[in-house]
Amino acid sequence: MTIAVLVGAALAYALGMRRAARRGTSWPAHRAVLFYALGLGSYAVIELGFLGTWSAELRWAFVARIALLLMAVPALIALGRPLDLARAGLSVTVLESHHGHDPRFRGELIHPRGVRALRSLGLESALLQGGAVPVQGFAVTPGPGLRTALLPYLERWGQGLGVDHQRMVASLREAVRSRPGITLRQGEPVVDVLRDGTRVTGVRLRNGETLHAGLVIGADGRQSKVRAALGLEADVKLLSYSVIASVQGALLPWQGFGHVFLGAPGPVLAYPYGDGLVRLCIDVPLEAPRGRGPMLKWVEQHYAAAMPQPLRDAVLSSLAAHPLEACATHSVHTRDCVTPGAALVGDAGGCSHPLTATGMTAAMNDVMELAQALTTYGPGDRALEVYQQRRYRFVRAREVFTEALYDVFRATDAGSEALKAGTFEYWRRSSAARARSMGILSGEDSRRRTFVTEYAKVTGRSALRTWKQPARTRALLTTSFLRIRHTAVRTAVSWARERRAPRRGPA
Ligand SMILES: Cc1cc2nc3c(=O)[nH]c(=O)nc-3n(C[C@H](O)[C@H](O)[C@H](O)COP(=O)(O)OP(=O)(O)OC[C@H]3O[C@@H](n4cnc5c(N)ncnc54)[C@H](O)[C@@H]3O)c2cc1C
Repeated sequence: MTIAVLVGAALAYALGMRRAARRGTSWPAHRAVLFYALGLGSYAVIELGFLGTWSAELRWAFVARIALLLMAVPALIALGRPLDLARAGLSVTVLESHHGHDPRFRGELIHPRGVRALRSLGLESALLQGGAVPVQGFAVTPGPGLRTALLPYLERWGQGLGVDHQRMVASLREAVRSRPGITLRQGEPVVDVLRDGTRVTGVRLRNGETLHAGLVIGADGRQSKVRAALGLEADVKLLSYSVIASVQGALLPWQGFGHVFLGAPGPVLAYPYGDGLVRLCIDVPLEAPRGRGPMLKWVEQHYAAAMPQPLRDAVLSSLAAHPLEACATHSVHTRDCVTPGAALVGDAGGCSHPLTATGMTAAMNDVMELAQALTTYGPGDRALEVYQQRRYRFVRAREVFTEALYDVFRATDAGSEALKAGTFEYWRRSSAARARSMGILSGEDSRRRTFVTEYAKVTGRSALRTWKQPARTRALLTTSFLRIRHTAVRTAVSWARERRAPRRGPA
């Protein structure tokens, strides 16, 4: 058995190198040496040497053998980068419109699910080199001076990360650039797609150059040109604006946690994004005044009280000292994210309000689902259909949850106000409730049924609080009914679309 595993792995690696060479990718010799000498060598020594021979008789030999097989051998095999080799035969061209970074503010907090996906692709270390710091969960404060609800990630999920977006993008580009088979071209905006009949066969760049490809992946953000060129419709809604502030020091009440401060016209999201660095995204409604002066005055008047001291003073001083940085928040809802020869991932395929900080985690989910479908079904239309189904299963739950949470957290009507109070009471009463909510919020649990069950529980708890006030109870039930009906309609539409999707076996 051991010999068969050794011969099989050695042959697979050798064939991988031959395939990569045929496709013009030179595979570094030192990686092969590491794989054969340290990876397979250590496996052979353990299995065929003293530990393997005496494992059945000596308990310590058995324990040592299993421990080494589980911990040391995989790490030594990984030195030869066998997964990169498997991918090395493919040639990928990444086209990025900016030479440097996209000037628009983008996400920085990644939930554990997203971090695990990055780790599995060997990219977590790039983020850590880019200055990422651990995030342990969320601390949500319902209003000025009110008790905070702490929603930690469960230990088994691992930690999240907070990282400066521009540094993250720079580190990821470096990591990707050095991978075999990947060419990164910056300052090359895509303006259109090429077609052969209904099939997409490549892209056209702004300079007129055309590139042909077996698969085109549009990952160009919420205002995606590729999505428009593919003719995939999107329902785009401008929701609010985010005013961005950056401060320095141990200013967050719960170190290592993302924070949400409520009680202002929009939620304030605050999180660590580097050593001693805190970023704030202050959500301001569309009717807020325009221009730096009026906007700063408005933020001071309406949001300052929601932030605890000393964070409040630091934020106001930082806003006053720097040019105003603001960006629009959108919801983008798509019904299709694939077409023959092309797929959308990340915000190009749709996005929600950034309140739950899940955009990048969802984008990583897209990447993993697409890769999985392509690995299972090959690079044909069936893989894209499967990707679309799985993606929307995850994304639809996120959309309804984020919309509901945004309404509840802003509490602009009596029903949402009652739901907000009920939510905090629900969290205060049980750690299981906090864990379930955090599971939905961070994308660990993407089942719509969990969301509906939790929503019903919160409605019940809120109704218990308001039963003596019939007007509030009526408002609460109306808001809850509308939300659950909305969720049910979306669920039914997705279900019907999945039923209609053609079913074929792997290509
Ligand atoms: C205020 C705010 C706060 C947020 N906070 C968080 C958070 O804390 N955590 C989180 O997970 N998410 C957050 N998000 C959401 C997150 O930013 C997005 O979900 C994420 O950036 C999506 O990544 P993407 O690669 O799909 O798109 P983008 O990050 O928008 O990247 C698109 C890329 O495509 C390039 N591009 C655009 N057009 C073209 C073209 N024609 N040709 C070639 N290249 C092109 C752009 O230059 C850019 O590099 C936040 C969003 C906002 C607005």
